Amino acid sequence: MTLAKDICFTETDIAKLESEYASKRPQDILAFALKQFDNITISFSGAEDVVLIDMAAKIKRNIQIFSIDTGRLHPETYQFIDRVRKQYRIKIDVISPDAAEVEALVKEKGLFSFYKDGHKECCAIRKVKPLRRKLATVDAWITGQRKDQNPATRASVPVIQLDTAFSSSDRNLIKFNPLANWTSAQVWQYIHANEVPYNQLHAKGFTSIGCEPCTRPVLPNQHERLGRWWWENAADKECGFHEINLTPNNN
Ligand code: SF4
Repeated sequence: MTLAKDICFTETDIAKLESEYASKRPQDILAFALKQFDNITISFSGAEDVVLIDMAAKIKRNIQIFSIDTGRLHPETYQFIDRVRKQYRIKIDVISPDAAEVEALVKEKGLFSFYKDGHKECCAIRKVKPLRRKLATVDAWITGQRKDQNPATRASVPVIQLDTAFSSSDRNLIKFNPLANWTSAQVWQYIHANEVPYNQLHAKGFTSIGCEPCTRPVLPNQHERLGRWWWENAADKECGFHEINLTPNNN
């Protein structure tokens, strides 16, 4: 494990850092994260994540980036991933779920079990297990979560936290959310001002984009999360990526 350079990242350290960095710019939070950890990765799937990639590329070369390919993404999303790879001349670690587990689920329940059984079983196989595999190889990760993405689950997302959902008994995983306090409008202002690439589905009414069968466009002024798993309650609209958000007193 590559140790953080100046700080031990105990729970006390993290609480102090959170109060120090909560009001800082995302670029400052990112610069701090990249300085402290060599083995740190950015999780990439949506518009916010490319804002972070753009900011990080201006701070440091050779940043680690990964994306989970669930096998159910829109064609536009695959094109988007490749456009980001080319524009920033970066390597993206595109991670697939375990083929045997996907085959067993599909054999048992078909290709659309989530509409009947809820999304958690499919997300666990296609997203969370590959994520856990990836996160076991790093010391810290950076995500594009924002508080206003889902008032039911993300309203208190801190800019830095101990990720208890993916830490293990012998290893702490640190999670940075540099955009926690940004609004969607600030994200899009940055995208346009800096010519950051974005998923073409945004031009077709999609706001929050996940897998093709579980994402749909929303109407103007509808909350972005209404386009995800629309057959489920708002408090269930987490795929397990940010499991810690579902834990009371998580920060
Ligand atoms: S978002 Fe839908 S298709 Fe994608 S992993 Fe979750 S349940 Fe499966």
